[in-house]
This record gives sequence, C-alpha cells and structure tokens, in this order.
Amino acid sequence: MDKNFPISGFSSLAIHGGHVQDPNYAHLTPIYAASTYVFDTAEQGMRRFSGQEEGYIYSRWGNPTMTEAEDKIAAMETFGLDFEVKGILHASGMAAISTLFLANLKQGDKVLSHFSLYGGTQEILNRLLPETGVQSTIVDLRDLNKAEEALQQDPAIKMLYLETPANPTIQCVDIEELTKLAKKYGKIVACDNTFATPYLQQPFKFGVDFVVHSTTKFLNGHGTIIGGILLGRNIEFMKTHATKIHRLLGGNSNSFDAFLLVNGMKTLEVRMERHCNNAMAVAHFLQSHDAVAKVNYNGLPEHPDHLVALKQMRHPGAMMSIELKDGLVAGVKMMNKLKLCTRTVSLGTCDTLLCHPASMTHAGVPKEQREKYGITDGLIRMSIGMENVQDILADLDQALR
Ligand SMILES: *Cc1c(COP(=O)(O)O)cnc(C)c1O
Repeated sequence: MDKNFPISGFSSLAIHGGHVQDPNYAHLTPIYAASTYVFDTAEQGMRRFSGQEEGYIYSRWGNPTMTEAEDKIAAMETFGLDFEVKGILHASGMAAISTLFLANLKQGDKVLSHFSLYGGTQEILNRLLPETGVQSTIVDLRDLNKAEEALQQDPAIKMLYLETPANPTIQCVDIEELTKLAKKYGKIVACDNTFATPYLQQPFKFGVDFVVHSTTKFLNGHGTIIGGILLGRNIEFMKTHATKIHRLLGGNSNSFDAFLLVNGMKTLEVRMERHCNNAMAVAHFLQSHDAVAKVNYNGLPEHPDHLVALKQMRHPGAMMSIELKDGLVAGVKMMNKLKLCTRTVSLGTCDTLLCHPASMTHAGVPKEQREKYGITDGLIRMSIGMENVQDILADLDQALR
C-alpha cells in the first residue's frame, strides 16, 4: 500500500496497516526466526545501541514480524483520530499489564479500579503489587460519584484502571466520564480493551493514556496464540521508559505468534460483525427460553449498562453470560450436553465457547465473594462464535432441555 493512500475503511486498515514491503519481496512479512541482527561495522553497532540509527538488535527488543503487529494494532486503535500511539507487543495480556503497572507505579502509589476485572489482573492488584508497596482501591466505577470521591480523597491514587466490557456479567464503565474525572485530578488512565477490540471501541478517543489487550482473544481470533500488547499515547514515554521496562521484564512476544496475529487481524471487522450479529440473536433466543432465568448481555435494554455500551461501542460485542433457573446442577448438565459448541475457557475464537465460572475459572473464590460479583452457581459464560446462527441456537436449545 502507498503510505499516502487515504484509507477510509476499518478493514482496509486492518489488512494493509502496519505492513512494510519485505526486502526480499515476500508478499507477507515473514516469520523472522533470528535471535540477533548483525552490524555492517562496529560503528553501526554503536549507533544502533545509542539509538542514533534505527535498526533491530536483539529479538527480545523486537523484530520485523512483531513490529508489523504493533503498528497494525496502533493504527486500528487510532483509526479516524488525529494522533498516533505506540504499541509494544508482549508474550501475553498479563505480560502487557505487568509492564503497564511496573512502568507507571512505585511504592506508595495506588490504583483505582472496578470490582469486575479479569482474574489475573485482580490477582496482580491483590497479591503482587502490594508486595511492591502499591495498593489498590476498588469501587463500583459505574457510580461516578463514588469514583470522584475516591479520586478526590486519596492523593496516592496514581492510575485509574478500566476494563470494559468486563467478565463475566459484561459490566461496562463509562470511559469518557471516568477519564474526565481522572484527568481533573491529574491521574493516569489505562483501559483493557480485550473484550471489545479496536473495531468496537477506541478508548484513546476518550482521552485514556494507555490501552492493553490480550491479543489471545478476538484480535488473533482463531485461538492459535497467547499474546498481548501495551499501547500508549505518550510516544516518548513508550519509546523510552516503557520500552526499558518491557525489555528488562522479558515478556516479549515471538515471531510465530506475531505472524498468526497479523494475519488473524486482517479479518477483524468481518469477524466482529458476524460475532456480534450472532450474539444478538443468541441473547434474544435465550431471553425467552424457559430454562434461563437471566441473560447478561449489554446489547439488551434490560442490561444495567446498556446505555453506556451503546455510547462507547459500535456493537455490544460477542460476550454474554446466562443464569439458569436450576443453578449449579443445571449448569453442569447443560455443559455436558453440548454437541456443537465447545466447553472451554477463553474467548474470541471462530467457534462458540462456553464455560462455567463457578466450577472453573472462579472455583477458588469463596462462594459469598463470587456471588457479590454476580458469579452465581448457575452462571454460564459464552463467547459467541461465527457458526451459522441456527446451529448455535439448536445446540443451546437441545442442551438446555
Ligand atoms: C485473557 C484476558 C487477559 C489476560 O490475557 P492473557 O493473554 O491470557 O495473558 C486480560 N484481560 C482480559 C479482559 C482477558 O480476557
């Protein structure tokens, strides 16, 4: 693609964005399988190390396959916006989140966040960061007054950390309003955009400083990798301090995963359109099903965060959860009867995935605490896939009977 071509559509960008012509004219950027990069001269080596000359040095620091993935995601997260961001590809979503926290927080700082977060993030906040002297304050961020109260009263809060939509009740928080509040008190704002992807939601549009993704999910889209990315609006900070922390922690990605990610992302728009259309049909179907007590899907007007989702997302996404009338027993029975859909954790693959948080991802969380977060015994979480929707409905229907 000519760099000056005025791309007007998301898919065009997802397909061409970040691509650089390979020096050997390979159509796709190859899987660069080399640990190190050679210098023509000792002087060139010095220039590369000092940053006077751009060029690859060592694959923990990056290579052409990883750069393409970073630049493509950065382009998608700022599509239609008038500024750029820089991305650093990581080994996993957790590695990206670790770099985010360790590059921004020091002893005595606090993180303000919501109670509904990815389990790993929750554990970093509850167990790991406190050992480095970083505490977290958890409030219901859907209540803007409570959020402001915390920001106003506690000067130790350095970062507001958002995840929206969030596991497993698909709660959404208002990125724009919360970012405004955080900025009023001079805080850093970061947002986990994994469930939405940049096609559905662009947190940078609302003024956040950092976006993180588990690229393992919808971005890759095929369940073939583990990966993550940290993107930042302050390019200088990303190129210096964040890059330093990333390199020292060693949570780098690799060329094979980067290659699968780049190619998976080319179909992001078409995949998300199909995922979301199917999800809406499944939500309506389950809502009127006799065995189902409740459907948590932010595309339904009954969902408490429906309006927030409408405001900041192109479509409500493909994640939902349901509560069965007969609790745990019904949940286990339904999971065992599935014939097409897949019993597994994770999300964002071509096939429809179901898991039972109470007996799987959250089995270690005490029941009382679980239920406070909406994870009841009969809750089933679903990542709606791209199968023909009548087949998804038929499988769910026979499994619920
Ligand atoms: C999966 C996930 C993560 C962690 O990503 P990994 O790639 O598994 O390390 C973080 N946040 C959200 C919302 C996720 O779904």
